[in-house]
Amino acid sequence: MEPTSPELLSLQTVSHSYRTYPAVEPVLQDVSFSLNEGASLALLGPSGCGKSTLLMLAAGLLSPLTGSCVFSGQELSRPHPAIALMQQQYGLFPWKTVRQNIELSLLLRQSRVEDAQLQQLIGELGISGKLQDYPGQLSGGQQQRVALARSLLLHPRLMLLDEPFGALDSITRERLQDLLRSVWQREGFAMLTVTHSMQEAVMLGERILVMGGQPGRILHEIDNSGMRAPAFRDSRESAVVLEQLRRALGEAA
Ligand code: ADP
Ligand code: MG
Repeated sequence: MEPTSPELLSLQTVSHSYRTYPAVEPVLQDVSFSLNEGASLALLGPSGCGKSTLLMLAAGLLSPLTGSCVFSGQELSRPHPAIALMQQQYGLFPWKTVRQNIELSLLLRQSRVEDAQLQQLIGELGISGKLQDYPGQLSGGQQQRVALARSLLLHPRLMLLDEPFGALDSITRERLQDLLRSVWQREGFAMLTVTHSMQEAVMLGERILVMGGQPGRILHEIDNSGMRAPAFRDSRESAVVLEQLRRALGEAA
């Protein structure tokens, strides 16, 4: 068998504009990066710099105006079954229970899951008692856990997360980051997280790309390969990377 390339996602000189006629300023210009199987990348930048747009391109939900988005050796022209996208606002159907929300996304992907596997994951995520509840009966943190469970049960090769824990209090947010980190290391999917939080970028990206400008571009790349260590959150190393990010964002402003 041919050895497979470790490169999973590759964006080359991607630009995007929401309207070409009459033309408006592009929202992204000349964005290039790639992500290997099992690796993690964080995209950090201020609101409005085009982060969500970039994630939609990586999900195959938008097509670039120029440049290319390649997933697993093929140009992305539509959503791919091996890519899961967790959007900014949970995306749960309020009129369906937690269990129905999870089952519906599996059904849409024509994928099935063993009940034992579902029970194990929701146990780990701490929402076992919530399967019959409706999203409106859950806290923000619990809704986010459901959204995470739903994406994880699709067993994606690439997980895209748009400001995943932005609406949560800092305690819940740190817990969910730690949970995501441990599931990521165990399951081995690649992860691309978009955030405007420096601290979140440090916890979730082995590489951190700092974005800025209008149109949005990548201004800096910062190596954060030490982040796989279990005690990374309180380490000297994470504080150093945070400081580097702060400086990079200062220059970007
Ligand atoms: P971010 O996620 O970094 O806050 P977005 O990708 O959401 O940035 O938006 C980047 C720019 O594109 C903003 O100026 C925004 O107003 C514009 N934009 C986003 N979505 C649309 C859309 N559907 N139609 C037109 N403009 C859009
Ligand atoms: Mg956004």
